[in-house]
Amino acid sequence: MVDLKGQYAKIKEKVDRSIMEVIDTTSFINGPEVHQFQKELEDYLQVKHVIPCANGTDALQIAMMGLGLKPGDEVITADFTFAATVEVIALLQLTPVLVDVDPVTFNIDVEAIKKAITPKTKAIVPVHLFGLAANMDEIMEIASQHNLYVIEDNAQAIGADYISNDGSTRKTGTIGHVASTSFFPSKNLGCYGDGGAIFTNDDELAHTLRGIVNHGMYERYHHDVVGVNSRLDSIQAAVLRAKLPLLDKYNKARQRAAQKYTDAFKDVAAITTPQQCQSCRGEDYTSCSCHVFHQYTLRLQGIDRDGLVKHLNEKGIPCGVYYPIPLHLQKAYRDERYKESDFPVTNRLVEEVISLPMHTELDDEQIGYIAQAVMEFVK
Ligand SMILES: *Cc1c(COP(=O)(O)O)cnc(C)c1O
Repeated sequence: MVDLKGQYAKIKEKVDRSIMEVIDTTSFINGPEVHQFQKELEDYLQVKHVIPCANGTDALQIAMMGLGLKPGDEVITADFTFAATVEVIALLQLTPVLVDVDPVTFNIDVEAIKKAITPKTKAIVPVHLFGLAANMDEIMEIASQHNLYVIEDNAQAIGADYISNDGSTRKTGTIGHVASTSFFPSKNLGCYGDGGAIFTNDDELAHTLRGIVNHGMYERYHHDVVGVNSRLDSIQAAVLRAKLPLLDKYNKARQRAAQKYTDAFKDVAAITTPQQCQSCRGEDYTSCSCHVFHQYTLRLQGIDRDGLVKHLNEKGIPCGVYYPIPLHLQKAYRDERYKESDFPVTNRLVEEVISLPMHTELDDEQIGYIAQAVMEFVK
């Protein structure tokens, strides 16, 4: 699904040198690399504060702790996403409220958010799924009407642009009150281990978050709040510093691969190719900066998906089903308040979706081979 080896081969010299420098200085924790990476990411995203931490799941949890959410507060998020999002809500004894998604963008459905709001609702967590921003204009509007926090889960969309209705462009993860991201190796900006970060434009919240990641300490050995230990280590920061200048190029390579796939499937009625953002719809993918294709996900109509997965695997082509089970049907997250009729879209997507290999190193020959193999089965 990803080709981390191929990507590494092209940047080996730089990455190896950066890692060796960290080892030479032995500043493994909170070294200068971490601080410099923080600054460089703030510049890239045009956000006031980046708070590095140990992984994307911690980033979400710490963001929620920083906002002071309390047990029993309701947090609305999407039914069709990776479990980390709902997991941290539950871990903090907040009440997850899962809602359905949009069939075209796969992102949280704004009408469903409106219906799910109660007096106990405190926050909305939109996930920019597969690399495409959720409808942030509407979500921020709903949040301001109801006095709710917006926590963007940006783990799959780092580097993506969001174009607002007023025409202004901002990076995903800089629009809500706070955002989280992951530097897991296969993410669009991945390190060589675990890593994550929290972003915010709010100075006070940033200060709170910096203490929480460090055992609730604002002054050495003074523990003002209950915190956690969640650090990005210097070696990972060195890898990320080597890769951040390439992020736009990497995302372009993904967009180009997406365009090639989409061109190959355009006359196949049984395949729905991924949509772009509202603003860029109709243009080609390579000129749209809004979808950074963490995954390239097709919807299949009337095709035996398991058969297709088997067919592709037999040809040596990996593929994935993200996600095969709606969160509201997962044992850990069942809730008697949910009705199946609340989730018609997610229930259908889990049967229809398939994600094809998507990474920075795909060449035309590979894309042609993969597309051909899909067509053989579908036709
Ligand atoms: C990867 C991911 C996370 C978790 O990140 P980790 O670094 O693996 O903890 C959270 N949310 C989404 C949507 C993700 O894709």
